[in-house]
Formats: sequence, structure tokens, C-alpha cells
Amino acid sequence: MSRPVETEGPRVVLVTGGSRGIGLACAEWFLAQGDRVAITSRTGAPERDPGEGPDRFLSLTCDMTDADQVDSAFGAIEEAWGPVEVLVANAGITRDGLVLRMSEDAWSEVIDTNLTAVFRVSKRALTKMLRLHRGRVIMISSIGAFIGSAGQANYAASKAGLVGMARSMAREVASRGITVNVVAPGLVETNMLAGLDDARRAEYASQVPLGRVAKPEEIAEVVGFVASDGAGYVTGAVLPVDGGLAMGL
Ligand code: NDP
Repeated sequence: MSRPVETEGPRVVLVTGGSRGIGLACAEWFLAQGDRVAITSRTGAPERDPGEGPDRFLSLTCDMTDADQVDSAFGAIEEAWGPVEVLVANAGITRDGLVLRMSEDAWSEVIDTNLTAVFRVSKRALTKMLRLHRGRVIMISSIGAFIGSAGQANYAASKAGLVGMARSMAREVASRGITVNVVAPGLVETNMLAGLDDARRAEYASQVPLGRVAKPEEIAEVVGFVASDGAGYVTGAVLPVDGGLAMGL
């Protein structure tokens, strides 16, 4: 019989790619709940300082594609606060190009960062969650996983891969009270969207039933819910947060 999922007091949360955009909004959401939050990115410092001090907020330099750096980052968090109880696997990149012009490097770089690195950090986090008999893994996918996007075969494949991976992991760890879920944003106002050309951006926005792109905070709210005690019976789920863009898929 597993111990209950609920915990008292602050949780230890890791948000990968927490230096800006959706990841930083998630980090700020968890800090506002009173949790202890670590963020990782290749460049280290967050775009704005959430300002909770070293007892509540750790900013770590860590390239998710490097296994040694990932292990060191987990080591630093565990030394400061103990094992990660909530993992938000958010770090992601695009390297767009039409298939016939897409190099194998562009393919591999995106798959390594968006899919293989999520496997790596999830496995590392689950090792300790299994001993705790509790934990939440939340992977940030994209509606591109379901609808595809011209010029993003690598990205869509990586984001679709997360769904099968999350559901397999969810089945493996469910008996220990650990949930694994996927949040799939639509269009979100971040650096990543700024990389789209105006024509594609306008075309996408015009197709959103709610008529606008999302703020990063709107994705963070849903991630926060999935991590909450109230979502204890939700696992292996894919939650679109897309203003209705991919509804029904
Ligand atoms: P941003 O480009 O604004 O932020 C990406 C974050 O990931 C940064 O903190 C970046 O920091 C970090 N990162 C990138 N590569 C690595 C790496 N190898 N190791 C560690 N950190 C890394 O992206 P968004 O906030 O827009 O996107 C966040 C997630 O949401 C991504 O997975 C993205 O695919 C997904 N998403 C975004 C949508 C959007 O419209 N914006 C829509 C759907 C999904 P640094 O560069 O310093 O490493």
C-alpha cells in the first residue's frame, strides 16, 4: 500500500529551462505557493529575478543534453533541499526547416534537447520519487505534436514523443503514487514565438478560437494545477492549453 500523495510544507520543485518564458512563469507560480524552486538553463541567470533568496530559489547552469551536468544539478538541489518532488521538464528548442532542407544535425539537436533530455531528467527525478512514494512529473509538449507544423518535423516529432514516453512512465510509477502528465501549450508569447515570421504568427493567431495568444502565466496556472494535490487522480493525461486551437484532436 503506497503512502498518501499529500505533503505538508514547501515542496522541492525543479523547472528546466526556467530562465525565461513559460519556465520562468512556472518557477514564479511555485514560488508564490511557498515552494522551493530550482531552475536550470544553459546561460544560468533568469531574465528577471523572482527574488526569494537562496533558501527558496536556486538558479543553476545546466545543459540538459549533458548527462554529467544534469547529475550535478540534481546533486546541488538534493544537497540544498533534498529530492525533487515536482519536475517540470520545460526546456525546449526549435531548429526549423522544411524536411528536404533539414540537416540531420537540426533533427538530432531538437530530438536530443526536447525528447532525450526529458527522458534523462525524468529518470533522474523518478529514482528519488520512487523512494519517496510521491512525486509529479510534468512535461511541456506542444499542440504541434498533434497538428504538425510545416518546417517543424523535428520539433513535432520530439513533442509527440513526449506523449508516448509520459504515458509509459505513468504506468510504470503509478503504484508509488507518482503521476506523469503532459501539458501541451498552443501559441504563447515568449522568445520562441518571436522566432516565427509575422505571416505565420498572424495566420496562427487568427485560427485560435479565443482569438489571442497565451501569456506564459496561463500555462503556469495549468502546470501548477497538475502539480497540486487536487490533481492526484490525473496521470498519463495530455492537457492542451491552446485557446481551443487544437480542440478535439
Ligand atoms: P524560450 O525559448 O523562451 O525558453 C526556453 C528555455 O529553455 C530557456 O530557459 C532556455 O535557456 C532553456 N533551454 C533551451 N535549451 C536548453 C538546454 N539544452 N539545457 C537547458 N536549458 C535549455 O521558450 P518557451 O518558454 O517559449 O518554451 C518553453 C517550452 O514550451 C518549450 O519546451 C517549448 O517547446 C514549449 N512550447 C512553447 C510554445 C510557445 O508558443 N512559446 C508553444 C508550445 C510549446 P538557455 O537558452 O539559456 O539554455
